[in-house]
Amino acid sequence: MSFVRGLKCKECGHRAGVVPEHVCPECFGPFEVEYDYDAMMGRVTRASIERGPRSLWRYRDLLPISGEPRCGSHSGFTPLRRAKRLAAELGVKELWIKDDSCNYPTFSYKERVVSVAITKAIEFGFDVVGCASTGNLANSVAAHAAEAGLRCYVMIPHDLEQGKVVGSLVFGPTVVRIKGNYDDVNRLCTEIADKHGWAIVNVNLRPYYTEGAKTFGFEIAEQLGWRLPQHTVAPTAGGTILPKIFKAYEEFIRLQIVDDNKPRIYSAQAAGCNPVVTAIHAGTDIIEPQKPRTIAKSIAIGNPADGYYVCQTVQKCGGWGESATDAEIIDAIKLLGRTEGTFTEPAGGTTLACAIKLIQSGRIPRDESIVVSITGNGLKTIEAVEPALDFGTPIDSKLTAFDALLEEIKGRADIEERPLVGV
Ligand SMILES: *Cc1c(COP(=O)(O)O)cnc(C)c1O
Ligand SMILES: [Zn+2]
Repeated sequence: MSFVRGLKCKECGHRAGVVPEHVCPECFGPFEVEYDYDAMMGRVTRASIERGPRSLWRYRDLLPISGEPRCGSHSGFTPLRRAKRLAAELGVKELWIKDDSCNYPTFSYKERVVSVAITKAIEFGFDVVGCASTGNLANSVAAHAAEAGLRCYVMIPHDLEQGKVVGSLVFGPTVVRIKGNYDDVNRLCTEIADKHGWAIVNVNLRPYYTEGAKTFGFEIAEQLGWRLPQHTVAPTAGGTILPKIFKAYEEFIRLQIVDDNKPRIYSAQAAGCNPVVTAIHAGTDIIEPQKPRTIAKSIAIGNPADGYYVCQTVQKCGGWGESATDAEIIDAIKLLGRTEGTFTEPAGGTTLACAIKLIQSGRIPRDESIVVSITGNGLKTIEAVEPALDFGTPIDSKLTAFDALLEEIKGRADIEERPLVGV
């Protein structure tokens, strides 16, 4: 049973069937999946969801697949953790970490979009899948394609972190490294999808792919005990996840699964690539493309496909945006590690650093519920934090050497760490 009606243009409302297309032929606007919410009423409920598997597929009634899931049977349903020590450090009352750094199998939020896109690709009869990626998407597409037995081509900028490249190669896809940045890679992929007729998950399957991101928001609401947080901070790269978290909240409100508490959402970007936050601060939804220069490579998209919809969503709900410098990103990665035992990549450091700024500027009140979206794992991007960590000098395997080191460390104790971002 599927509640999908078909595709509908977000701009002019032109409708199409369930087809592997992403651009409206009438106005060139983006297609989005349309559902029959009236038919869902009373059938998609807390109880129906709770009966589902402990994966993102527990929300399948709200996802655009018609048959059984074909991959990702262990993806999603990642922890939502109460971050008490971090909350104390930041001086806020109720802070939560939605932690996709442990998403299975490739440790990022991308398992969500890819599980849906590859299932859909199989339903459409594609036998080759691919993507344009800043790394995490490539890892996830390669892994899920291997699981589903599809041929796979991933296209990435040439200068990604080792962990991201190895983390794709190991699954046996064709990895094509391209001289240029993500925006160049993406442009090429559009031509490849047209010419070769492949399922490029974030190009021609984009309407289905992006729907998978809603599961991040569904999980937050369910794991909070079927309520919405008042404030959600989410990173922005191409602009998929933020509007889709908000869409998830809206769908749950519409289906009377949660109460409407007028949730607000905030966009986080690196200062070295913040076209969307710049537009939000200027009070516009016109995005000026940028040339990225930041350690937060996974979210370094200078010309975000859905940046416009991030602005719209943020402005509609009364949210805001912030950006963080590379130094602030590294400090936030270390802060999250030190207070909560979670190791995130620079995207998560960006989100936390921006959340801190939003709290300090009073945009997010200290006594309201806050969710910080952690979307990727730090073990894939060791290069980013390594220079900011002290490896120490090796010692002899003698107790005297250990005790001497201990004395030296105690002597250093008052020269505490560099001050953390605004703490
Ligand atoms: C892809 C990605 C995002 C968000 O990207 P959107 O295109 O805006 O959905 C955030 N964090 C990480 C780690 C990612 O890989
Ligand atoms: Zn249109």
